[in-house]
Amino acid sequence: MLRRRRLAVMSTHTSPLARAGTTKAGGMNVYVADLSRHLAEMGWDVDIYTRRDRIDAPDMEELAPGARLFHVDAGPPMRLPPMEIAAHVSEFTSGVQQIAALNEPYDLIHSHYWVAGLSGIELSRQWQVPHAVMFHTLGAVKEVFQQPEPPFRIAGERRVIACADAVIGATSHERAFLIGQYQADASRVQVVPCGIDLEAFHPAGVEESRRRVAAALPDLGVEDGPGILFVGRLEQAKGADLLVKALAQIKSQPSASLWIVGGDERDDGERDRLRALAVECGVEYRVKFVNAVGRRQLPDLYRAAAVCAVPSAYESFGLVAVEAMASGTPVVATRVGGLASTITHGKTGLLVANREPEGFASAIDKLLADDARRRRMGDAAAAEMTVFSWRSVARSILGVYEDLLIERDIAGSERESCCPDPVESLLVAAS
Ligand code: UDP
Repeated sequence: MLRRRRLAVMSTHTSPLARAGTTKAGGMNVYVADLSRHLAEMGWDVDIYTRRDRIDAPDMEELAPGARLFHVDAGPPMRLPPMEIAAHVSEFTSGVQQIAALNEPYDLIHSHYWVAGLSGIELSRQWQVPHAVMFHTLGAVKEVFQQPEPPFRIAGERRVIACADAVIGATSHERAFLIGQYQADASRVQVVPCGIDLEAFHPAGVEESRRRVAAALPDLGVEDGPGILFVGRLEQAKGADLLVKALAQIKSQPSASLWIVGGDERDDGERDRLRALAVECGVEYRVKFVNAVGRRQLPDLYRAAAVCAVPSAYESFGLVAVEAMASGTPVVATRVGGLASTITHGKTGLLVANREPEGFASAIDKLLADDARRRRMGDAAAAEMTVFSWRSVARSILGVYEDLLIERDIAGSERESCCPDPVESLLVAAS
């Protein structure tokens, strides 16, 4: 019988089990959990390493058969911002080594985000195995959107990009950015889109979904009129405020409500700000809030909405848009990053060039005013999103891994470390 391949996944700054849609937990968490489950189903043994951010986290827990999650001591066992976690990378790396030493050796490392990538390059050198990395967000991209990032982040990303054996971007846009802004070696940058669970996200009885959502989330007021759905972390760059302003300008359906789904009690301040804005715009009775919902509830929520709106400043991929379209609901989104490649303007949704409330209001109005068009778009969207099935995405990721393993076999012990200099200098800057 063939030996199962063994994969070490670095997800240092956030756990795949963190509640998606709150503070720093979102697409990456969902991605790491889903990919790991699928790779395990496809015959790999997957060990995910994350930093212990609460004292009572178990040392190890099973995510799915063949996929385990280890909590590694590094820094205080409490939530920390990712930039602070960078200062604990060496401790995290040693912690992973200690755990790994008790198990069979790994064949490959896959890191997520630059902080994890720093551990990935150290471990790849020590274990002599290939290292693939995904960033999910890049500091230089955030800077384009006027969100300054500490220089050591950009330096850290550069280091990881220069040393990784493969850098996986979610879109050709991200690939171009990695090559253009970070001077990544083009031959090492692969594009593999994110995957979604089509067994959960697919069209189904809209009325039943609306009934279920009305019963489970009465605060949304589903029966009051059509819903414009926002799903995501309540942070500025996601643009919930833009939708509050747009709602006041919607003409075709005066009873339409804005459903803001995401965040938790830590976001009460942001909710208060949005409520005050709604009062200013005269739409306070039509803006509804609920805390982040679990993955099981999301498909009903997408189906129950008339439109899903994603007014983000930037999305490297934008899982929410794809999940909504796969569920048969058209999306109105900013024409940026991954959204510009996953949404076909006029067919599966509408892309808005200027991030202004007027543009969003007019696009949403077009869909709310024409039910037949909205349904046609929803059907087309669901059909197009099948390309993002996890089965095919996981296969593409395995393709990247297999190529790296073949290259490693050819290079053998001749394999040179591209990063002879340890990451200490960066870590000093981070601390
Ligand atoms: N999400 C969720 N529950 C919520 C809000 C969001 O499970 O209440 C999930 C959402 O379904 C998606 C992810 O969080 O899978 C957000 O990913 P996206 O790429 O849209 O944004 P990110 O958070 O990565 O910026």
